[in-house]
Amino acid sequence: CGQCSAFCPTGAIHEVTDFGPLREAIRQGKVIVAQTAPATRVAFAEEWGLEPGTVAERKMVGALKASGCHFVFDTNFTADLTILEEGTELLGRIKKGGPFPMITSCCPAWINMCEKLYPEFLPNLSTCKSPEGMLGALIKTYWADRMGKKPTEIFSLSIMPCTAKKDECRRDVLGRRGYQDVDMVLTTREAARWVKEQGFQEWAALPERDYDNPLSEYSGGAVLFAATGGVMEAALRTAYEVGTGRRLESVDFRAVRGWQGIREATVDFDGRPIKVAVAHSAGQARKLLDALRADPEHRLGLHFIEIMSCQGGCIGGGGQPKSNDPAVLQKRAGAIYALDTHMAVRRSHENVALQQLYTNFLGAPNSHKAHELLHTHYRDRSKEKQRTALVLYATQTGNS
Ligand code: SF4
Repeated sequence: CGQCSAFCPTGAIHEVTDFGPLREAIRQGKVIVAQTAPATRVAFAEEWGLEPGTVAERKMVGALKASGCHFVFDTNFTADLTILEEGTELLGRIKKGGPFPMITSCCPAWINMCEKLYPEFLPNLSTCKSPEGMLGALIKTYWADRMGKKPTEIFSLSIMPCTAKKDECRRDVLGRRGYQDVDMVLTTREAARWVKEQGFQEWAALPERDYDNPLSEYSGGAVLFAATGGVMEAALRTAYEVGTGRRLESVDFRAVRGWQGIREATVDFDGRPIKVAVAHSAGQARKLLDALRADPEHRLGLHFIEIMSCQGGCIGGGGQPKSNDPAVLQKRAGAIYALDTHMAVRRSHENVALQQLYTNFLGAPNSHKAHELLHTHYRDRSKEKQRTALVLYATQTGNS
């Protein structure tokens, strides 16, 4: 009825399947540029009845290209970029003594919750946009320039595991000069429905294609963004090696993996203990933040926290295929860790295409240009929450 999306405190209840804007963009002859999130590749095939955890990168790209997309980029590329920007931000905070703990910012449902319910933690949030926001900005600036296109000639379409991304792409800070960086978000389920509507009912009939370049190369660290603890693990790989100048013997930070709702670990940065925590699901995030509210000493002792609003992280996102398999999250996570293990490059800072992007366009991590395009700011919306509660109360009680 629309009531839920008006009152949902995280902006997560926004799933509607109106393909109108996409159809209109195709009709107008716009260049349709899609990006696909890390978690979509291990779930997309489930909509055709395949096992959870089936890795379907090339089929998914082929399906999108056969269904109207001219170019398909991989959000994994900007997951690596997020690590470079966020890792540099963390090292900067370690150098200047805070504010701590720094908290990840790639989950828009968590950002909404922080702005509305925990505004005192706003200075703790990383200023990095989500990987989707970063890729949207690059598509409409760097890539558009290379292609000789105006941003308004491009229709930027995101395929995400996430319903809250539909809310995120409407934020003013995710656009400039009258246009948004991401024009439309389709969840994994909606993207599959779109592809089927184009006549691809059978999995076998889907063509296989590769992602386009130069915005698709990725490391093992990037693909970990799909699972709880993954952003933390990828960030630790880079922050340790860049911060200490030493090479890790093993890049597997097993202490931040797993299914426990809240996990804490201490990582030795060459004699300096760095304390981190990971929380997944909104309930566990609130539990952790309430505990930190009550114990400022513990709060200040932590350096870095990852918060993801969905159980298991994005592999369990609200826009992923529904499943009756009780092991669905384990199967998707298993596929994500296997992908990471088999990558030749597992550290975000060793992504060669990313190094070239810095050389040719951005300069250096946290440079002025990087800040302009890849970082954002937040605002205290706690009053908005109270207003929403009052409107809801008035609606329910008939008082105005
Ligand atoms: Fe979206 Fe859930 Fe991932 Fe957050 S954890 S970005 S709400 S899918």
